[in-house]
Amino acid sequence: MKHDLHQAEKLRLSEKRLMQRHSRSAMVIIAMHTLLCVVYFQLGYMDISLTEALVLALLVWGSLLAYQLLMATGVTFRLREPSLSLPLILYFIGVFMVSGYYVDEFRLSVVTLFFSALLLVSFRLSGKVMVAVAFMASAAYALMLWLALLDRWVHLSLSVELLQWLVFAMISVSFAVTGGSINRLRDALVDKNRDLANAVKKVREMAIRDDLTGLFNRRHLLEILERQRALFSSKSVPFAVCYVDLDHFKKINDRHGHDWGDRVLRQFSELALSGMRDGDHFGRLGGEEFLLVLPQSDAQGALLVAERLRLRWREQRFDAQGGPAIVSLSVGVAAYQEGERVDELLNRADQGLYRAKAGGRDQSRVA
Ligand code: GH3
Ligand code: MG
Ligand code: MG
Repeated sequence: MKHDLHQAEKLRLSEKRLMQRHSRSAMVIIAMHTLLCVVYFQLGYMDISLTEALVLALLVWGSLLAYQLLMATGVTFRLREPSLSLPLILYFIGVFMVSGYYVDEFRLSVVTLFFSALLLVSFRLSGKVMVAVAFMASAAYALMLWLALLDRWVHLSLSVELLQWLVFAMISVSFAVTGGSINRLRDALVDKNRDLANAVKKVREMAIRDDLTGLFNRRHLLEILERQRALFSSKSVPFAVCYVDLDHFKKINDRHGHDWGDRVLRQFSELALSGMRDGDHFGRLGGEEFLLVLPQSDAQGALLVAERLRLRWREQRFDAQGGPAIVSLSVGVAAYQEGERVDELLNRADQGLYRAKAGGRDQSRVA
């Protein structure tokens, strides 16, 4: 669960970065385009009045600011495509075609920055959509040309205009096709990264788990103990351990077979896990030996936990299925003492266990 949240958080971050990049790039493209239009206007190449030009500029920048606002607040985050790439490219088509309409010389040069916009959305749109966008842009260019020709037929050279349109259409389609590959590459990268993250997770799980029972293994138990020891030093959080050993386990293997031995070990793991308090740790040290780590516990508290576990386990019978009647266990309990090393703590717990065994097994003893 925590891992899923972590993944979601990461995804959110990468999505946020993408949205920021979209918003920044859109701003740069429109700023460059505005600059270009101002130069054309100053040089008298734009067939438009100042008022009309200002109204158009207001519309263009107003829409762009609305887009910036959407990206900055993240309200589109729940959408399937939070960076709104399709509406964005439609907006660009509109902006460039309207600008192109007013410039009769070098019409193609006015719309050149549209290709940057195509490149930008190719990070988000699939190959098919990109090609559709390219065709739509070419159609919009044709419409714009048609309107310009209707309006200023005498000034324009049809062949030059058509040639420019052809160049625009071809570059758009090439960009769309290349952009589609970028998108596929990005998708493949996302898949690869997810696979890698899963593999790392699996390797980590394998490194800390015991194969037979799925419990924490010895290495991870030692890590947990070191962590508890550090907590004791820094925050004086006490902790205790229960060293659990199943009694006469060799006999179970000898009498009922190794498979029965394994089955008993797994059954014990489940029982112990099911009765655990949140925050406690349980793992297999090896063989038929297990360790319970109990934060916030002293020796007396740990002894109670050990006894409860021993009595619950004692109720389990296996003879109905052809296994041993009952399997008892012995526990050595030790609370961490200041300045002690982890192996010293485990040795003391083992001494408690030795006393429990010597005292006749099926009991718990404090070291
Ligand atoms: P005690 O009451 O003194 O603890 O006696 P014991 O027989 O339980 O102790 P001992 O250490 O002599 O034997 C432990 C046995 O556990 C020996 C080994 O064959 C068995 N064992 C260790 N690991 C596994 C395992 O993964 N599966 C099975 N089935 N048996 C195991
Ligand atoms: Mg043993
Ligand atoms: Mg044993």
